[in-house]
Amino acid sequence: MTQLKTLIEEIPKYQPGADLDVLERAYAFSARSHKGQQRASGEPYLSHPLEVASLLVNFKMDVTTVTAGLLHDVLEDTKATKADLEREFGGEIAELVDGVTKIGKLAFSSREERQAENFRKMLVAMARDLRVLMIKLADRLHNMRTLDYLPTEKTKTIAQETLDIYAPLAHRLGMAKVKAELEDLALRALQPEAYVDLQKRVAKRRLEREADINQVITILERKLSEVGIESQIRGRPKHFFSIWKKMHDQGREFDEIYDLTAVRVVTHSVRDCYGALGVIHSLWKPVPGRFKDFIAMPKVNMYQSLHTTVIGPKGDPVEIQIRTWEMHRIAEEGIAAHWLYKEKRSGKDKLDESLLWLRQLIETQQDMKDPREFMDTVRVDLFPDEVYVFTPKGDVKALPEGATPIDFAYGVHTKVGEHCVGAKVNGKLVPLRYTLRQGDIVEIVTSPSQHPSRDWLKIVKSTRARSKINQWLKVEERTRSIELGRELFEREARKYHLNPATLLAGEELKKVAADLGYPGPDDLLAAIGYGKSSVHQLLNKLAPNATLEAPEKPRPSAAARAKTEQGVRIRGVDDLLVRFAKCCNPLPGDPIVGFITRGRGLTVHARDCLTVAKSVLDRERIINVEWDVDEPGKRPVRIAVYIGRDRPGLLSEITGAISARNGNITKAEVTVTDDRKGINHFVVEVADLSQLQDIIGAIREVKDVINVERVRGL
Ligand code: MN
Repeated sequence: MTQLKTLIEEIPKYQPGADLDVLERAYAFSARSHKGQQRASGEPYLSHPLEVASLLVNFKMDVTTVTAGLLHDVLEDTKATKADLEREFGGEIAELVDGVTKIGKLAFSSREERQAENFRKMLVAMARDLRVLMIKLADRLHNMRTLDYLPTEKTKTIAQETLDIYAPLAHRLGMAKVKAELEDLALRALQPEAYVDLQKRVAKRRLEREADINQVITILERKLSEVGIESQIRGRPKHFFSIWKKMHDQGREFDEIYDLTAVRVVTHSVRDCYGALGVIHSLWKPVPGRFKDFIAMPKVNMYQSLHTTVIGPKGDPVEIQIRTWEMHRIAEEGIAAHWLYKEKRSGKDKLDESLLWLRQLIETQQDMKDPREFMDTVRVDLFPDEVYVFTPKGDVKALPEGATPIDFAYGVHTKVGEHCVGAKVNGKLVPLRYTLRQGDIVEIVTSPSQHPSRDWLKIVKSTRARSKINQWLKVEERTRSIELGRELFEREARKYHLNPATLLAGEELKKVAADLGYPGPDDLLAAIGYGKSSVHQLLNKLAPNATLEAPEKPRPSAAARAKTEQGVRIRGVDDLLVRFAKCCNPLPGDPIVGFITRGRGLTVHARDCLTVAKSVLDRERIINVEWDVDEPGKRPVRIAVYIGRDRPGLLSEITGAISARNGNITKAEVTVTDDRKGINHFVVEVADLSQLQDIIGAIREVKDVINVERVRGL
């Protein structure tokens, strides 16, 4: 088991002047926090953070990261809080531990490869600080090494996740050694028989194979030293998983893969690499098309080497890699090797650069085939402020920070967005304005009668949702404007005893629209509806002679109605038949909306009226209207008065209160029950809401009145 002493000895070797005091305090804190806890192996729990810290030392991580490694499980498994860590060790270490804890809570369940890719991206985005990923990888590596102590089922889940997520992540970070070990350990857990079988076969053939390799090495060493190239030549081991995968994926025999001789030449300079290549090609015949120069053109994960295949001394192909020691270190350690180099830079730049480098890694994935998909990925990675959430099936969706279920719904499909009424997040119902958090599992609740509203624009965060909602509203508004334009035209036409249907159906309308500069009749009607074009102008064009006569005078009944039932103003329009809805009977002062109904003019409803709510669902045409304060009129309203105990004089006291506030009673229904309780209904004419509130207040003052309510409808 690793001891603290080892860490204290090792760190200064690559990070001189590191603050080892904080490391010792972290050790003590971790020991205290995990006190009494045990690993599945029976060892004290502390052994785990110590091993993780030791792996981080192997990765040559800075002392801050190693310290965070010692503390990496205290938030998850002990009573310690982030605030405790911040107080004891400062914000940087607290953030690192918090980051590891957060990504540790994610569980990858989908087996789909593309999803695995998204999941990896999510981890990277969530980690924010690259060092969080390093700690997580060290954590996973140690857990994989000690997998034997867990129950088989759990083992398999962890191993599969390692294969799907963490080994590829190590690969992306260029950490070949870690990747190979994770894969071998995962294979051992997932396919124990195949693993043991491979082990046996490798052991059986090793001696034979080593003889072949040694022959190549001996010849090559002699030749290279003859020309003055100092080098180390080794046989290149293939790890079990890579053999297994090749057998499995390519249906090849063990011998074909295992017997392929592979050696690696490591030199001191790039010049010597090319020199060695020349020697090799003069010794043995190169196989055409097998030479690759990754020194001149490094791979995206920084890998550099020369690759060639030659026909060796026995007439079999021999794979040879040539690289410098520096290239070798980067090939084995990847990001970890890179990290130390970055460490020499100052503060914030360092981190940004590392992250940038990492993003580039992810962005330039070579396995990305569809360029659009590629662009999508780049876009995602350029916005660090993203939240990653799951569908119930485990698919990952990336959304801007602060995104709501509406954003998610539009992310699934436009139709899902348009009909979204709410969502279940982690199994609980949440409102549409809920702010999604990392790792939430989101299930959208839809209703066929739901439709987007302007209010949604205030809460959505994604450009996709915003543009889709705007698009829908635009179509909707146009539909409404066309209907309103048609309505206005019909009224105008009837004034002159013209048949609006005939006029609107004729070819003439198209011509007029074109004359007035509109693409089509609907555009012209919409313009009238918006108030941008005049209805009279249209009528003049369609029926030039008819409008020369004076319009028909309104019939007396219509005039009377107009007088009592006008009093609202419509944006840009003032010549429309207006009625007040009986269902909600709005009063001046109530927020209102207008409904355009073909042939029936405009109906004014209270904004909170149930009919409105239902009609919205029917996609009925709603327009904004407001009370016309310049044209005050009396409106009837129904009130209910609840009586606690009836007594002589009570009714007159109530009616007296109404009259005293200038309310004109037009109807009264008095009901008294056997126990002398009752409800009295009055219809009172008032000017507006505030007068009604006055009256209600006055009635409440009357003795034995329990409650007074305004009754919607008449
Ligand atoms: Mn752990």
